[in-house]
Amino acid sequence: MRFIEKDNLIIPSTTKEDSLPISQIPTIPNPPINPAFTYNPDLQQQLTGKQLLLEDLPFPLADIQAHYQHGYLTYRKGIENNGKHPLCARCGNKDPQWFAAFPCARCKETCLYCRNCLMMGRISECTPLIGWNGQAPDIQIPAQIMAWQGTLSDGQKVASQHVVEAIEQSQEHLIWAVCGAGKTEVLFAGIESALAAKKRICIATPRTDVVLELTPRLKAAFPEIPIASLYGGSEDRHLYAPLTIATTHQLLRFFHAFDAIILDEVDAFPYTVEESLQYAAVQARKPTSAMIYLTATPNSKWQRECRTGKRAYTTIPARFHRKPLPVPEFIWCGNWQKQLEKGKLPPNVVKWIKTRIQAEKQTLVFFPHIPLMEKALAILRKIHPAIEAVHAEDPDRKSKVQKMRNKEVLMLLTTTILERGVTFPNIDVAVVGAEDSIFTESALVQIAGRAGRSKDHPTGVVTFFHYGKTEDMLKAKRQIVTMNREGLNKGLLDQ
Ligand SMILES: [Zn+2]
Ligand SMILES: [Zn+2]
Repeated sequence: MRFIEKDNLIIPSTTKEDSLPISQIPTIPNPPINPAFTYNPDLQQQLTGKQLLLEDLPFPLADIQAHYQHGYLTYRKGIENNGKHPLCARCGNKDPQWFAAFPCARCKETCLYCRNCLMMGRISECTPLIGWNGQAPDIQIPAQIMAWQGTLSDGQKVASQHVVEAIEQSQEHLIWAVCGAGKTEVLFAGIESALAAKKRICIATPRTDVVLELTPRLKAAFPEIPIASLYGGSEDRHLYAPLTIATTHQLLRFFHAFDAIILDEVDAFPYTVEESLQYAAVQARKPTSAMIYLTATPNSKWQRECRTGKRAYTTIPARFHRKPLPVPEFIWCGNWQKQLEKGKLPPNVVKWIKTRIQAEKQTLVFFPHIPLMEKALAILRKIHPAIEAVHAEDPDRKSKVQKMRNKEVLMLLTTTILERGVTFPNIDVAVVGAEDSIFTESALVQIAGRAGRSKDHPTGVVTFFHYGKTEDMLKAKRQIVTMNREGLNKGLLDQ
């Protein structure tokens, strides 16, 4: 859009005369709030704590402009362009390769846009980011906020108390909880205290699956509290709620919105995505706010910060059922790739698999690459027909996982797609080719964490078949052993 600067205001213009695309206006004036103006409460609901594009809002431009002129709404530059260095104000992208130019119908110039956050609607040099500057909508909080009445394990209790304190004092805190510790319940007391203080709180997670799984659990725990559940294509996108559950991508639409953000699975990102995600999380927070990080597998940098006292954290070293984490066993299996090329699997792998098949024990077997996994599938199907393989692009992924749940599948071969988020109650786990670089410390800890999840079957065998041990394998094992020792020392494990 083009604007004319006049009387300490900017006014949308359809002609090129005297007007500029928003990014070229040196300083955008912010008129003072006019208390006599009657603002539109729908606009207030939809814009509070947000940064939206004009096309995200079902209101005419004249309405929006009137709210701006009376001080209730702000325009920010979608792209800051200081000479040669564009910066996307929404996603933080400043890599010149991730910008492109197009002949723009709106500003009638060649306009630079951000490719990095294009899926959330195009931000270009003439795009205003629209935000709310008036007061927030009033939310009634019931006297009885939480309906959840479950009990916490001793390890969860400590973490829960630390979450409450971090939220009350607007601090950062990491909860390092082993796979199967029960991390969601650890949040409930903190959410309750935030809501009681009329704070706005958000749980953000990288995966839509997790948003869909958490939403009913939180609705059951906080039945009287409006909850916005946000992911690509969700219906709640205009709902103003004291509690929001969102994919991390959706945080890109928020600006100074939350008094507390709980960031789940902080490690589950490729590094490049992480930067823009962290930018989004920082923007979505209020300047004074709490940030709670949840993970089972912090990266090496974070682990070092924990050890050296630079990062506030709490571990939950034991599972809810008080049994230790299965420790992976390393077995050398030679050049398994070469064997697979010849249509064979290493004999010790075959033996391991046959033992499970004879015992009818359900098993997850991880492979680093799809083509080799497909070769293994063909070999193993000759041993037993109820074996399937899944990977990220598999259209039948969901139904195969469901068949595994229903026990119609005895053995599921998989890539790292099932390293986290899935729980089968009674399984053994193997990795074939654990030395591959795709199996990072964090991936291997997560994979090992698939075994022994349920209280009826708290143990399971975890075997890493390899062609040469890697540093990541050793670190993963060390992390698991350390957690078990800590759990034992703290009295969180049954002998
Ligand atoms: Zn333009
Ligand atoms: Zn962007």
